Amino acid sequence: MLKLPVYLDHAATTPCDPRVVEAMLPYFTEKFGNPGSRNHQFGWESEEAVETARERCAAIIGAQPKEVVFTSGSTEGNNLAIKGAAEMYALKPEGQEGRGHIITSAIEHKAVLDPCKRLQKRGFDVTYLEPPRDGIVTAEMVKAAMRDDTILVTIMWANNEMGTINEVPQIGALCHERNVVFHTDATQWVGKMPTDVEKDNIDLLTWSSHKIYGPKGVGGLYIRRRKPRIRLVAQQEGGGQERGYRSGTLNVTGIVGFGKACEICANEMDTERERLRALRDHLESSMIKNVEHVHINGRPERRLAHITNMSFGFVEGEGLMMAIKDIAVSSGSACTSASLEPSYVLKGIGVGDDLAHSSLRFSLGRWSTKEQIDFAIEKLTWAVNHLRELSPLWDMHKEGIDISTIEWAHH
Ligand SMILES: *Cc1c(COP(=O)(O)O)cnc(C)c1O
Repeated sequence: MLKLPVYLDHAATTPCDPRVVEAMLPYFTEKFGNPGSRNHQFGWESEEAVETARERCAAIIGAQPKEVVFTSGSTEGNNLAIKGAAEMYALKPEGQEGRGHIITSAIEHKAVLDPCKRLQKRGFDVTYLEPPRDGIVTAEMVKAAMRDDTILVTIMWANNEMGTINEVPQIGALCHERNVVFHTDATQWVGKMPTDVEKDNIDLLTWSSHKIYGPKGVGGLYIRRRKPRIRLVAQQEGGGQERGYRSGTLNVTGIVGFGKACEICANEMDTERERLRALRDHLESSMIKNVEHVHINGRPERRLAHITNMSFGFVEGEGLMMAIKDIAVSSGSACTSASLEPSYVLKGIGVGDDLAHSSLRFSLGRWSTKEQIDFAIEKLTWAVNHLRELSPLWDMHKEGIDISTIEWAHH
């Protein structure tokens, strides 16, 4: 029997892998030492566990352990990377506040956009690139936006709403040619796709444990140490942990779990990806076959394998989500779904309000099954047909009226 509800929202968060939980358990109880306690067994034991986790986390991105700073997750990692780099590399004309130009994109997560807005208020100039309908931020676009005073580029690796993959290695190469610091929010990418901060030309990279089957509240920030050596201004001060970049007693249990989660992903990502790609493609092709006016958002062949963002014409996304209550999915992005504004990401790539309002994100994960996807296809097909039967817009469309030309009465 299928257990309900079915979880298809793995881009929002993932359950902990039981192997991760098992690795963490001893560090709640008998192995509880503070890794900062340098003069007894309890401290040493915890420190060793943290350093093993650091090796595992570094390995999955091709970094040296010393280059990984543990954070509370990607929101903190992005804040530290962006504000820390802007403050460190700000141009300081004599007697003036630091300033400089930053390039990012309009489809970043709020945890990148909001730190950028904050820096704008403090006098930095920020360019928000708007990719075209395919959703891809290219090196060409970044190159065109580069200025003499550009100090930082921050472009996400894979987009959390559509799964689209930006030209990160190429953007990194461009930044290195011009001596501009390059940060990428790789929260949706790491653990799913092979990553090598050397080959991929990355200076700063953020990722998060709870998106890759680890515990919530822990993540990593990669800070390049050589060629070039990158420095940041710390955003949280105190005991000087994590080489001064992130003061505060380490979340040892979380870090141990994060390390284990990275190790498992490194071993299993290739097989997992192809399995999920087959299921995702089955979901998409079945929906396209079963109902009319299904649109895939983002360039289909340049996406992560486990995410799909589909618009169902003439159906309202929130209503559709209600009609398929047994399936946990996301409309717009998780962070904006409380409001009725359509997704800023879809709007950012020029998707019109109607289609943006009718889109849902499905994201598959480690325990998604064929049976679950078949159930989703059945429910979704029923719900789309049902909602269209109730829709006057659908009636008008069937009668051959072009909805986009209608002048709506304003009150
Ligand atoms: C989830 C997510 C974040 C936020 O990560 P937390 O660890 O939950 O703070 C940032 N960026 C992207 C792209 C995400 O998907």
